[in-house]
Amino acid sequence: MDIEAPGEAKELPKIHRLDESVVNRIAAGEVIQRPVSAVKELVENSLDASSTSISVVVKDGGLKLIQVSDDGHGIRHEDLPILCERHTTSKLSKYEDLQSIKSMGFRGEALASMTYVGHVTVTTITKGQLHGYRDGMMEHEPKACAAVKGTQIMVENLFYNMIARRKTLQNSADDYTKIVDLLSRFAIHYIDVSFSCRKHGAARADVHSVATSSRLDAIRSVYGLSVARNLIKIEASDNDPSSSVFEMDGFISNSNYVVKKTTMVLFINDRLVECTALKRALEIVYSATLPKASKPFIYMSIILPPEHVDVNVHPTKREVSLLNQEVIIEKIQSVVESMLRNSNESRTFQEQTVESSPSVPSITNNESHLNPSPSGSKSQKVPVHKMVRTDSSDPAGRLHAYLYKKPQNHLEMNSSLTAVRSSVRQRRNLRETADLTSIQELINDIDSKCHSGLLDIVRQCTYVGMADDVFALLQHNTHLYLANVVNLSKELMYQQVLRRFAHFNAIQLSESAPLQELLMLALKEEELDLECNENDDLKMKIAEMNTQLLKQKAEMLEEYFCIFIDSDGNLSRLPILLDQYTPDMDRVPEFLLCLGNDVDWEDEKNCFQSLAAALGNFYAMHPPLLPHPSGEGLEFYRKRKHGKNPQDVGKSSCDIGDDIEIEDEFEHKLLSEAETAWGQREWSIQHVLFPSMRLFLKPPTSMAVNGTFVRVASLEKLYRIFERC
Ligand code: ADP
Ligand code: MG
Repeated sequence: MDIEAPGEAKELPKIHRLDESVVNRIAAGEVIQRPVSAVKELVENSLDASSTSISVVVKDGGLKLIQVSDDGHGIRHEDLPILCERHTTSKLSKYEDLQSIKSMGFRGEALASMTYVGHVTVTTITKGQLHGYRDGMMEHEPKACAAVKGTQIMVENLFYNMIARRKTLQNSADDYTKIVDLLSRFAIHYIDVSFSCRKHGAARADVHSVATSSRLDAIRSVYGLSVARNLIKIEASDNDPSSSVFEMDGFISNSNYVVKKTTMVLFINDRLVECTALKRALEIVYSATLPKASKPFIYMSIILPPEHVDVNVHPTKREVSLLNQEVIIEKIQSVVESMLRNSNESRTFQEQTVESSPSVPSITNNESHLNPSPSGSKSQKVPVHKMVRTDSSDPAGRLHAYLYKKPQNHLEMNSSLTAVRSSVRQRRNLRETADLTSIQELINDIDSKCHSGLLDIVRQCTYVGMADDVFALLQHNTHLYLANVVNLSKELMYQQVLRRFAHFNAIQLSESAPLQELLMLALKEEELDLECNENDDLKMKIAEMNTQLLKQKAEMLEEYFCIFIDSDGNLSRLPILLDQYTPDMDRVPEFLLCLGNDVDWEDEKNCFQSLAAALGNFYAMHPPLLPHPSGEGLEFYRKRKHGKNPQDVGKSSCDIGDDIEIEDEFEHKLLSEAETAWGQREWSIQHVLFPSMRLFLKPPTSMAVNGTFVRVASLEKLYRIFERC
């Protein structure tokens, strides 16, 4: 478009209807973003056609040629003329069918899109035909030809008419890798179909799977022995319409599997999809549970009632949306957590027995990994009502199916697990607390003050959501509780500091921060809050003194707490208290001031305790300093910043326009920052705080009375009020 000089009177640009071919290409751009998306659509079509063998040939990362051949039911001759028109499909007739659709395709858009961005040739034969048909989609009549059973679709010169796209894709060599990855995923889910994928002209296939009845065999043949031998089978299900209805089964890597990148192969109702929330939730469990903090390999298949899945939310159908997604994720997360802890602990036990039995086989089967040591298990009777859980951290019964042991009743299994777990945890604590008695005493204090009722709630509760800025709603058995997440996270962080004492991993600050300036900032903030008016000189002096003090203590802060302060008085490192969690850096100044003012540097035990408390307060999940995006706080913020002055009234309309623009931009930025901050916090509460609390928190007795937990309702009573709860 021409750039006009301001004020130049010129004809207004004409609005006109886009050519249909353009519209089609826009849609194509959405569905077929890269060669791999074309392969996915074609393979899905082959699967929809009940094929048992699918082979893919690719030339030049898919840009020159993609050819997918199958042995499925083929396409009727009379359908060929409309095959590649938009919105022609054999899978869906009315909109309502979407609710229950089982096939992967349904929009009739994929082949049409491909003909707009590439040259498509279809060869197909249906049952009972003597010959097949080949239809280059530009030709008028399909030609008879020899064909083997099924359909072969060839896409040549993809994006030949989209120069920019072709250029960007040509530079990236990883499209073939993506295609191989895609086929590998299909191959381990559709184990009764054989898949192959190769480069054009290559003798060897890069994916080659044969139909099998064993998922583990399929994984072994596609991902290799190193993956397959380190897997644990998992299962979970729920059939309670008031919370969730699903069945999940899969394989997850154990603690012997060490890689840097997560592989998550997820099928929901047999569709290959992605679910970032589930993936992150599981990564958290891995980093919290396994000492090596490896990333997992996960294959998971989730089956839900079709009407609970909305398949039509994404142009490439890559993401789907689920009913009760949060609940399902929580349940799966806790099953994975419990399986892992169990496998990890049995591994710990195995390591210990290595000396006495040096002939431990190097390749152990899954069962032996899962076999928890019976030592230390006390069978404790668990009242039946405790088995009624909305969130199971122990899928009692399910676990049982994978154990080598003689059948045991569920209750015993549950309590032996708990015993094994706590003994391991204690050992871990002992190791981690170095040999300082003061730290050991502080940890003993935590243990002796632990409230068993609250501990049970923390371990077994389901996180429902945030009720307001500070309180989360939890369900435990048939009760609903409000729990103060600030208090809880503060306590958890405090306990973590003591447990990880002298063994922290570090958060490296991107820029080292000068203590002096940060302390000044904190003092000014404090002044605003307290409305006391010290002059700047005095503040400088206090900041200076505190800086000196912290510099003096730097060695100890670094060695025990991983708080690194260099000789110039800059802060550059902080400890990791929970994996995948970084504190709100806006609170660094306040924290430093607190180190200077509130820490008792004289007595060892008091010093460690007050330092741990200061860190706890800093890392706690406070509401972000920016106001909540949906509240009135932002409005207030905006007014304060851009207070309407009476002088504004006389301004020219042009000035006001500018003002509004600046204000809009400011507001927009503020709003998006606030949304990010609050969104991240809520995510951390659900996916970091609650899972970690389940593992590590020992809630002190004081929390039972200080308003940290408030029981708000009993579901039995609510059931009477609402039919469906
Ligand atoms: P959709 O899969 O959404 O229906 P497509 O454009 O991918 O739309 O395919 C259009 C139609 O072509 C399908 O509904 C199906 O009837 C037919 N078709 C495509 N590929 C195959 C195949 N490999 N085997 C049999 N039929 C196919
Ligand atoms: Mg399709």
